[in-house]
Amino acid sequence: MIIGVPKEIKNNENRVALTPAGVAEFKKHGHTVYIQSTAGEGSGFKDEEYIKAGATLLPTIEEIYGIAEMIIKVKEPIASEYNLIKKDQLLFTYFHFASSEELTHAMIKQGAVCLAYETVEKTDRSLPLLVPMSEVAGRMAIQEGAKYLEKPLKGKGILLGGIPGVPPAKVLVLGGGIVGTQAAKMAAGLGARVVIMDVSLPRLRYLSDIMPQNVVTIMSNEYNIREAIREADLIVGAVLIPGAKAPHLITRDMLKTMRPGTVVVDVAVDQGGCIETCTPTTHENPTFIIDDVVHYCVANMPGAVPYTSTLGLTNATLPYAIQLANKGWKKACAENEELKKGLNVVDGKVVYKGVADAWNLTF
Ligand code: NAD
Repeated sequence: MIIGVPKEIKNNENRVALTPAGVAEFKKHGHTVYIQSTAGEGSGFKDEEYIKAGATLLPTIEEIYGIAEMIIKVKEPIASEYNLIKKDQLLFTYFHFASSEELTHAMIKQGAVCLAYETVEKTDRSLPLLVPMSEVAGRMAIQEGAKYLEKPLKGKGILLGGIPGVPPAKVLVLGGGIVGTQAAKMAAGLGARVVIMDVSLPRLRYLSDIMPQNVVTIMSNEYNIREAIREADLIVGAVLIPGAKAPHLITRDMLKTMRPGTVVVDVAVDQGGCIETCTPTTHENPTFIIDDVVHYCVANMPGAVPYTSTLGLTNATLPYAIQLANKGWKKACAENEELKKGLNVVDGKVVYKGVADAWNLTF
């Protein structure tokens, strides 16, 4: 199969859908790979490395879309790319159709086969192509939170791990899923005193088993949250209710009970946030302050660490991409339920219920 990898053109997107190691893997299976020049630059991969791995470079995005049977990308196509997409061309990327009616109609019109990373689903209902980005965001939440606790950045001026003779900071993690687990592990590793809250007792049991001594698990409810935020120095919002907006576990009036300089990193901001006062921010301007509480609410945290994010993402996507290339999408999806769940638009029709429901389309 002929594979094409365009350079991402969405604002501030430095990830790339294939690494030189991924190219070598495709070559091993007898496929042809075209990479747009400088596509890997933002993630630290040079054109020469792709050539060495067996790819052919093409200078323009038009040439990539023009030649490829399968396009592998990171972000959804933007308006300037729509007309480059050919009928029956396979697109394997994040789409998030339920949040863009325009994109949904554009892909229907182009007649592309759209296989969305975010809906590839395992039998245990986990989403393997979202997990790596949650891992990045969870770990990063502590790195960013620690930074904004510094006084010049308007934080309390407390060192996360303390020093001998001086107690460490208190970190509260709301939600013990992928993001919350990674955040708790990082905070604990730095020596903070960590509380992790979740509504799932089995999850709390699991976390209690695997976490180090300086992590305490507590049931998530309003009473416990009200108590914990009075003491916390850093709060990480990591709650997810699949298919719904995040619940506002910390409301506007609760901010007044928190100490000045407390930092909240609301990773769940992409689902509306679990802190009522959170609104999405960017890497250029990541924080704002309300009631002396520093809010960090960047909606695409992994974008700041494209090297790690690209490697993490492609580790997860490559095995699926290879199956698609080896068998063609029809056979690959017929033989693999996980991949089949990724199909969103085929032959000018929406084939994923959530997307059809979002835009009142026939399914
Ligand atoms: P997950 O499904 O693995 O974990 C969510 C956890 O929240 C579950 O354990 C669930 O039991 C728990 N939960 C639900 N209701 C709760 C409540 N009331 N109190 C406490 N816990 C509760 O999800 P995840 O992969 O960890 O993702 C968390 C959020 O982070 C999602 O909204 C995701 O989209 C977002 N995210 C954001 C970025 C970013 O850049 N900002 C990056 C990756 C993920």
